[in-house]
Amino acid sequence: MPELACPFQCIYCNQATISGQSGFPDSADIVALIERNLQSLPTGKKHVDIAFFGGNFTGLPLKHQADYLDLVLPYLYDGRVQGIRLSTRPDYINDEVLLLLKAKHVHTIELGAQSLDDEVLARCGRGHTLADVALASSKIRELGFRLALQMMIGLPGDTAEKSLQTAKTIINLGAHETRIYPCLVVRGTALEQQYHNNEYTPLSLEEAVSLSASLLTRFESAGVKVIRLGLHPSEGLNGDALVAGPFHPAFKELVMTEIWRQLFISFPAWPTGPASIIIEVPGHEFNFAVGYAAANKNMLRKRFPKLQFVCNSRLTGRDFIVKPDIQC
Ligand code: SF4
Repeated sequence: MPELACPFQCIYCNQATISGQSGFPDSADIVALIERNLQSLPTGKKHVDIAFFGGNFTGLPLKHQADYLDLVLPYLYDGRVQGIRLSTRPDYINDEVLLLLKAKHVHTIELGAQSLDDEVLARCGRGHTLADVALASSKIRELGFRLALQMMIGLPGDTAEKSLQTAKTIINLGAHETRIYPCLVVRGTALEQQYHNNEYTPLSLEEAVSLSASLLTRFESAGVKVIRLGLHPSEGLNGDALVAGPFHPAFKELVMTEIWRQLFISFPAWPTGPASIIIEVPGHEFNFAVGYAAANKNMLRKRFPKLQFVCNSRLTGRDFIVKPDIQC
């Protein structure tokens, strides 16, 4: 729902360019999209959400909100979908809106918090403050919704320290979920002008990956689920929309690779004798431990030329075991 009902134009945003859509989606189009996606899901898929993303859903007139939600409720009632979520602005949350969303069985509300530093918010033209996010978060939680607070890194005026403080505030506000998006320079935005005028420098890919790795581990420790790292390739930028910034189609893999790289370089008990070792890792972390393009494996091979990674289903989290390879 590109920029629908947005009262401000955030300086980095051009949703029509990002999503390739503009204007109000037609009811028939929404139903066709849902049907198409439901048919494409693998069998046995356990939890399916319908989500209204991209604009300011609760900035729409109440009647429009109700109409959109009525359109998708039959999927919830017949069990083909298990949840409804939407994203909106923190300054467009009030009791009347929340009661409507509750009555229409919305279960998760995502707020675009982006930064929780008032100076950064002002420089981005967000039009709201930390106080707005705090108030909206507490109302959402009081009414029993799941709360997601989305954040961005590398915004104008932002620093790594401010991003880490934003994460801390997101945790303290009681968010259940978050998304971490690196700020990108998109064509047709005010940020593009700032970039060309040398008034804004985006994060490098390495900086964005390193900072996201720190944020992810903090959120995990606090029990906040990180449901997205970077733009998904399928929601990627159309054509030549990306002007600059740390976009990578496998951004999440790069971040997970970095987390494992740090675990490996800080591991105190590498064997000193053998050149051949086995590293056992949990199955769900195998690819991340080996690393994107085998980066971690290649790094460790400089020290252990006959290194082998294997899955150990008894391991959990990011535990790993290092053993000498006695068969070699
Ligand atoms: S509120 Fe969201 S959709 Fe609207 S202009 Fe800002 S970033 Fe874009």
